[in-house]
Amino acid sequence: MTPQEEDRRQVIAENLERVRGRVDRACAAAGRGPAEITIIAVTKTFPLADVAHLAALGLRAMGENRDGEAGVKVAQSREAGLHGIEWHFVGQVQRNKAASIASYADVVHSVDRVPLVRALDTAAGHAGRRLVGLVQVDLREPTGADGRGGAAPEDVDAIAAAIEAAEHLVLGGVMAVAPLADDPATTVRAFARLAEVSERLRATCPHATIVSAGMSGDLEVAIEHGATHLRVGTALLGSRPPLG
Ligand SMILES: *Cc1c(COP(=O)(O)O)cnc(C)c1O
Repeated sequence: MTPQEEDRRQVIAENLERVRGRVDRACAAAGRGPAEITIIAVTKTFPLADVAHLAALGLRAMGENRDGEAGVKVAQSREAGLHGIEWHFVGQVQRNKAASIASYADVVHSVDRVPLVRALDTAAGHAGRRLVGLVQVDLREPTGADGRGGAAPEDVDAIAAAIEAAEHLVLGGVMAVAPLADDPATTVRAFARLAEVSERLRATCPHATIVSAGMSGDLEVAIEHGATHLRVGTALLGSRPPLG
């Protein structure tokens, strides 16, 4: 490793320590065990070298949100001999990208409409793969203008049923991004609503236990409200260049 690579690895190792400390404290406060929580490192905009550092530090789950970048990174990771990584697609899925995403993603967090279920199922079948799908839930408040994507809570059951019925998909649970808000109470209410949606879903699909919620800024609130999977980018890898 070059000295630059050694420095970068050290930074990421320290960041991971801090994130794990936050997870441990939030779990203790919520009466939960850290083993219930999976940290997904969101590696979008960061190079394969960072994926390798994260993997060497013991993280297995990596998240990406753009098909073009993700496809290249997954292919590079295989060429580099990085095996055993579970790839999570967390961005919005355009239907014409379903075939590509189904060829490398293990988990798709952002299933938000029935036609997309069909497209992913067909694509997974062609690729000879089985994908885990999460239903993304829109947690916007009636007065909030800033949707972060996802299906309306009342549509979740129909989308979940379509995933259950799909031959090449497995229903994993639910996912959400908290609404953009200055008021922390909004995040609390949002994750509390997601917990209700998850509970309702588990009444009919007990195996759909995944609750993907919580990012760098709100992972404590998410853990308090039952998150099982955190999607953490900035707190592990630093700030990203603003989207153009
Ligand atoms: C980028 C992204 C994240 C990570 O966000 P950070 O605030 O950097 O931790 C999580 N979820 C989704 C859907 C994302 O696009």
